[in-house]
Amino acid sequence: MDVARESAGMVAEETLDPPDWAEVQALSRRAVDEAVNYLRDVRDRPVWREMPADVRGMFRAPLPRSPTPLAAVYGEVSRTVMSYPMGNIHPRFWSWYMGSSNFTGALGDFLAAIQGSNLGGGNHAAGLMDSQVVNWCKEMLGFPASASGTLVSGGSMANIIGLTVARNVKAGVDVREHGVSAIEKPLRFYGSDQIHACHRKAMEALGLGNRALRRIPTDAGLRIDIDALRAAISEDRAAGFKPACVIGTAGTVNTGAIDDLRALARLAREEDLWFHVDGCIGALIAIAPHNAHRVAGIELADSVALDPHKWLHAPFEVGCALVRNAAAHRGAFVVTQEYLELTPRGIASGEWLLDYGLQMSRGFRALKVWMALKEHGVEKFGRLIDQNIAQISYLAGLIEAEPSLELSAAPTINIVCFRYQPGLAGEALKALNTEIMLRLQEQGIAALSDTTVHGEHWLRVAITNHRTRRDDLDLLIHEVVRLGREITAQGHVSS
Ligand SMILES: *Cc1c(COP(=O)(O)O)cnc(C)c1O
Repeated sequence: MDVARESAGMVAEETLDPPDWAEVQALSRRAVDEAVNYLRDVRDRPVWREMPADVRGMFRAPLPRSPTPLAAVYGEVSRTVMSYPMGNIHPRFWSWYMGSSNFTGALGDFLAAIQGSNLGGGNHAAGLMDSQVVNWCKEMLGFPASASGTLVSGGSMANIIGLTVARNVKAGVDVREHGVSAIEKPLRFYGSDQIHACHRKAMEALGLGNRALRRIPTDAGLRIDIDALRAAISEDRAAGFKPACVIGTAGTVNTGAIDDLRALARLAREEDLWFHVDGCIGALIAIAPHNAHRVAGIELADSVALDPHKWLHAPFEVGCALVRNAAAHRGAFVVTQEYLELTPRGIASGEWLLDYGLQMSRGFRALKVWMALKEHGVEKFGRLIDQNIAQISYLAGLIEAEPSLELSAAPTINIVCFRYQPGLAGEALKALNTEIMLRLQEQGIAALSDTTVHGEHWLRVAITNHRTRRDDLDLLIHEVVRLGREITAQGHVSS
């Protein structure tokens, strides 16, 4: 004690804490007020806008060496970052596939950072809440309570967790110890030709290689063709491969197609394959009363990846991997570390959550999910999913009713593809629709994306948005037709 006091007297020790807490309190109140207004007024701002050169230039400033008052730091963030967002919290953002966040979740992220716990594990409240949110995810999907799971950065990581367990269980050798080169028969994984690109990355990272993931053709509804899958499995067996895992997709990113999960579960059982479901889009449909039947069978999977930062609208990032066989899950990742021995009491008497994945230090992702679920109740999230699916049907109806628009196919869930069609084909049609998409973005009206389905280019709308209203969709149709006419009248599409 004396030594400490003595040294404190001799050394000017520094801290990151502010010299004046009252000042920080005032600034924080302002930041929170402005943040609330930012969300309240989001509809009045453009979905997206291009950054002027001077704002862009701010991001080339070199490493700051001397201090800046916090108020000035905050001011710069307001002018730059807050003013030029991607746009996905806006009611008319329907590009790619992401959630639209929520205030309570943001408050949760703030409090998680303030409380500061490391979710690598240990005996503390945040650790218990992390496990509780995993348990809630199991409950939402009808997974058994004995299953395990982990919160990760997103769906891609959640898929890697599931596929890693699948590989290790099916390898036939101790692949953790001896590596993939010790596997006797090369493993084969299967998914549809609509499978998400993260699985390719996973296969590469797992050392199995992209070619070990066989893409199986899809039917007219873009669901995996079960007969073709069965044929591929027996062909591979005959050729000396070991069929190891089938990946079902509950909601493809192109069109929202949902593979026949019950049929896949049955086939996996018959063929002794691991059954993984990529439910990043659709797993949570299990909580939506009008549509839950579409994902029946998901509860039969050996592992599932789901994405609370999509249809639970949690602020980025949070994904979740669930594994039916908890021992297999731990067996894929647990490492005994001498400096992490559990103690009978104290902080190290809890569970090491790091044993369920690749990360050691982990953020407190659970709080933002927990707070929003607690505030609204899971039933409301289910209704919001039904609402988005109903909105897409409504939009498909508007598209069909408008002679200058062409619908790709009737939507299954919350994704629809369409295009403006003035009687063009091929590259000219693609260029026209791309131009419509870009002008919608640049004029701040709406954010759509595009895709290619069966070789055809389409504009794509995915509504994972609790702020979207039907009048936003009326506006979209009106503006697409207006821009289509305008660009066609200008006689060029490359501006
Ligand atoms: C979004 C998505 C992923 C990847 O999830 P991230 O959270 O973006 O990492 C994987 N599969 C499907 C079907 C998806 O829609």
